[in-house]
Amino acid sequence: NRQVLLASRPEGKPTESSFRIKDGPLPSLGEGQVLVRNQWLSIDPYMRGRMMDIRTYAEPVALGDVMVGDTAGIVVESRHPGFAVGDAVAGHLGWQRFGAIDGSLLRKVDTTRVPLSAGLGVAGMPGVTAYVGLIDLCAPQAGETVVVTAASGGVGSVAGQLAKLRGCRVVGVAGGADKCRHVVDDLGFDACIDYKAADFKASLKAALPDGVNCIFDNVGGEVLDALLPRLRPGARITLCGAISEVDNPSPHGIRRLLPLIVNRVKVQGFIVGDHPERWAPAIDELSGHVAAGRIHFRETVAEGLEAAPRALIDLLAGRSLGKQLVRIL
Ligand code: NDP
Repeated sequence: NRQVLLASRPEGKPTESSFRIKDGPLPSLGEGQVLVRNQWLSIDPYMRGRMMDIRTYAEPVALGDVMVGDTAGIVVESRHPGFAVGDAVAGHLGWQRFGAIDGSLLRKVDTTRVPLSAGLGVAGMPGVTAYVGLIDLCAPQAGETVVVTAASGGVGSVAGQLAKLRGCRVVGVAGGADKCRHVVDDLGFDACIDYKAADFKASLKAALPDGVNCIFDNVGGEVLDALLPRLRPGARITLCGAISEVDNPSPHGIRRLLPLIVNRVKVQGFIVGDHPERWAPAIDELSGHVAAGRIHFRETVAEGLEAAPRALIDLLAGRSLGKQLVRIL
């Protein structure tokens, strides 16, 4: 079995030497467990936090342990009544080719409606994050204006398309002209503003003539700062992520609180794992939208488990478009 282990804790940005490859025997199965041949590994921003020796909402990865991560694959052996050889499944099996896990922690991927890889994206954790953060917390009404940051990414791309399907006007924020073009042309957002462009603040203002009712924020920092003055009375903010502050923690994001107070804004942070009851309805609705062609998704695929460290580095640097995955060969 090939695995990627955490070799050292990065100071500053992670590098490929933060990881080590190890080949070993296949895991043996306990009662109730399932052996999965992983085909896809999801690369996610939270992995950066797990590399550090600090406890956030989850424990860090120990040095020398297999890196944590969601995978999608095929059942090759089962000692659980709910799973049979050949089932397409997704679960938290880590950066490795084969993984053994209790069947109660696995979910099936409905490959009649979405490809297996989408079980890690639009029909997986990022999709449910978009669903809970947008539908449950921001609760946008038809005709309202919604802004989504990191709009071309795994979470943001779904959040914006869900808001469109709910009848909202949707403005994305993303890094670079190519990503913005994708967000408007392929994903159907009404506009997308490039936060790396010199005229970012003026363009944002022009795109939001009547302000914003709902901010779905993935980045924090100066992008969120620029949005706060555009808040409408009674607006809601979903604080989903703060990726701009990961390598450079600062109190930046919620520095300018006055617009929140004056406009009686509701700000809500959340962790998708706290909402287990929302996964099934979210994945069902999202898979239906994908199968019917109402939600589109893009994947950036790195080839081979050995490419996983580089894929995480690229994700954090904004070099991926859509959901970053690793194909496990
Ligand atoms: P993405 O696919 O969106 O990838 C991350 C993107 O962040 C990059 O592509 C890049 O896009 C953008 N980015 C990177 N650095 C900066 C920066 N300094 N300023 C602004 N944008 C930056 O990742 P996900 O969709 O997986 O996750 C999006 C967010 O959601 C993350 O913050 C993540 O931590 C959070 N999250 C929260 C969950 C929860 O339960 N609360 C669950 C899952 C994810 P660009 O090129 O446009 O800058």
